[in-house]
Amino acid sequence: MPNTAAAYPDILEKFLKYIRSKVDKVVYNSFFSELRLASLEKDQAIFVANSRMAKQVLGSDYLSIIAEALRSVVETEYKIRVVTADELSSLKPGEAAKKPDIKSFFSHSSLLPQYTLDNFVVGDSNREAHQAATFVADKMGSINPLFIYSKSGLGKTHLLNAVGNAVRNKAPLKKILLITADDFVAEFVRYVKGDQDGENLKDFFRTVDYLLIDDIQFLANKPQTCTMFFHIFNLLYNSGKQIVLTSDRPPEELEGLEERLVSRFSSGISVSIGSPEKTTLLEILKYKVSANGLDVALFDEDALEYIAVNNSKNVRELEGALNRILFFNVNIHNCDRITREIAVKAFEGERKRNQSRGKITPDRIIGTVAGYYNLPTKEMTSNVRTGQIAMARHIAMYLCRTLLDLPFSQISRAFQKKDHTTVMSACTKVENLLKTDEGMKKAVQELKTSLKAA
Ligand code: ADP
Ligand code: MG
Repeated sequence: MPNTAAAYPDILEKFLKYIRSKVDKVVYNSFFSELRLASLEKDQAIFVANSRMAKQVLGSDYLSIIAEALRSVVETEYKIRVVTADELSSLKPGEAAKKPDIKSFFSHSSLLPQYTLDNFVVGDSNREAHQAATFVADKMGSINPLFIYSKSGLGKTHLLNAVGNAVRNKAPLKKILLITADDFVAEFVRYVKGDQDGENLKDFFRTVDYLLIDDIQFLANKPQTCTMFFHIFNLLYNSGKQIVLTSDRPPEELEGLEERLVSRFSSGISVSIGSPEKTTLLEILKYKVSANGLDVALFDEDALEYIAVNNSKNVRELEGALNRILFFNVNIHNCDRITREIAVKAFEGERKRNQSRGKITPDRIIGTVAGYYNLPTKEMTSNVRTGQIAMARHIAMYLCRTLLDLPFSQISRAFQKKDHTTVMSACTKVENLLKTDEGMKKAVQELKTSLKAA
């Protein structure tokens, strides 16, 4: 039986399917979706969690469901052990994987089936990008690399997946790899930790026909990863394989990347996607209404216009606005007509929320919490772990998360912490205390009120 990391793709897939049917979606996405099965030996199954936090949570609260899911797939009882990737590499040989094998790279990458070339609404702002995507999906290596750039929310990820889905339909034997540049960095770091010289990773990429990398700007300032990527890029390029890259800016504006890499990115064709013009916005809106299973006639034309004009810079926000209106008015209030008045009202609430949210910043939260506990502000970002200081810091992190809805990585930067799992565990701690501790409830409530009132 093989014993390499993630050497059990079939078992893992069925296992995860079982888990998905049993646990909450948010829990699944956060803790299970990246879980790997590293070893099934004797009576022990070793799983690798994607963070220390995940290890802790899975190893305590979800052990029995993991055992149950594994039993349902392999029909054998295993003792479950959950470790982090670091712990896995320090396990004795025989205890688990020694060396990542070729199949284990990017084992969780997949295409999002909902994004296709057909359901991308084409207008002047995105026509060229759509045409280029259609062309490379049809003829591998025809434009190499294809570089698509735009501001956020304008359809880059959609088109990238659409290329993959089109190839999958037309040429199912072609191997497609769609990953974000972040995934590439993470995999490369994992690889280097395993003390490899790069050959395995290159061998893996030799098998890829379509390399689709989203948000390539995240390779910036990672020189070792960039060097490896440069070799991989050349490998694929020289053998006529297709490379498609997306970014939030054109190649020449990418900072923190070696010149030779930027010049490779510019050697094919770069196309931009602009903000959609009004007719395209309206068409996208109408398309999304029907995609929600609703009749467009439900909306007055001027209601649609109002939504489109108020969200003209970003299709993701346009979708969000539409979903909000549908949720409150159609699902909750059973409206059978969406008028301009209803649309305006829905936006008023959102505008007010944004205005009050706009004033609160991580710095203000840090200052307010420090003041509340009578602590010097600098302690809030220090590494002191003693009682009240640590607790105040946890509360401030929790408030950044709940009031500002910031990603963990951004909060960890505001607190000068390297590792975002510190923030994750701080938030969980506060959430748990809020369930039982009246003093904590009162403090958090008072802090929220004072932040919102200021
Ligand atoms: P980006 O990667 O540029 O930030 P996404 O591809 O994630 O943006 O797009 C955000 C949302 O907007 C997605 O749900 C996508 O389907 C939708 N979208 C963007 N442009 C279009 C379009 N032209 N037609 C249909 N949907 C679109
Ligand atoms: Mg994207």
